[in-house]
Amino acid sequence: AKDAGRNTYRLFDEAMNLHAQETLRLRNNFQRGLDGDEFVLHLQPQVDLASGQVVGAEALVRWQDGSRLIAPAHFIPVAESSGFIVPLGQWVLRESCRLAARWQRELGREVTIAVNISAIQFKRGDLERTVAEALAESGLPPHLLELELTESTLLNQTESVLSTLRTLRDQGVRLSIDDFGTGYSSLAYLKRLAVNKLKIDQSFVRNLDGDAEDAAIVRAIIEMAHRLNLRTVAEGVETVEVLQSLRRFACDEAQGYYFARPLPVDEFERFLASWPGLLPG
Ligand code: C2E
Ligand code: CA
Ligand code: CA
Ligand code: CA
Repeated sequence: AKDAGRNTYRLFDEAMNLHAQETLRLRNNFQRGLDGDEFVLHLQPQVDLASGQVVGAEALVRWQDGSRLIAPAHFIPVAESSGFIVPLGQWVLRESCRLAARWQRELGREVTIAVNISAIQFKRGDLERTVAEALAESGLPPHLLELELTESTLLNQTESVLSTLRTLRDQGVRLSIDDFGTGYSSLAYLKRLAVNKLKIDQSFVRNLDGDAEDAAIVRAIIEMAHRLNLRTVAEGVETVEVLQSLRRFACDEAQGYYFARPLPVDEFERFLASWPGLLPG
């Protein structure tokens, strides 16, 4: 038993070591990756449940590091702890605005681009200026840019976070709360901050049609949002049954594998052109 314990420790040490090495490797390669255009955006459509049209796209970053495509869950936490999220986030914003502006100009399509913003970008990045510059240089109208913030960012209501949010709202940029329902349950910020949309977390959406409690939570979120004049989008919609429940509950928009996975730009543009705009009965 003693030996087994020692072995467990050794394995644990090795795992820690590998983790530390991988973290170091990521940190050392971030800047080279950014300079070498190795980061790419994938886009996942957001469908309006009243019209059936694609009205938005969430920009989700990936890292093409040689032949491996690294998922954001793997490198975003390291980018946050190292501060690299600030320049990376600037790139994501500029690239996102450029894409949505092109869809508007060249395809004649108004598609809101939803961009994930990390709490670190509020604290250490010059977010107002980054946003203003991304809008100015792309020519994207501000109402087509939506920033996805998490509840933890909003709970941390320092004067500077509040003033940044107010400036963004005054510029006409839209704000949505990501992963709604999973964070701290203070709803005070819904009243005080002029957010536009709640994004219902996938954990409540996934089994919506089979789970009475999830259904109750989702209905309650949608009802509350509507009373506060907020729109709702459900993420993680994988089946037609879930889609139909959401339509019954009068959810405004849906996003998930049922429609499409996050797609490379060219595939997203083909999806946009070919989506029939009809939802099943
Ligand atoms: P998130 O913002 O909650 O994004 C939704 C995640 O759920 C995405 O994972 C998406 O691919 C996945 N997803 C979408 N529909 C479905 C579905 O129907 N079923 C299932 N099982 N999953 C679905 P992804 O792309 O791996 O991104 C993971 C997280 O990484 C994001 O979670 C977000 O927190 C972060 N992230 C991604 N891009 C950025 C970025 O540019 N900046 C920052 N700060 N964070 C980012
Ligand atoms: Ca998101
Ligand atoms: Ca989310
Ligand atoms: Ca999430």
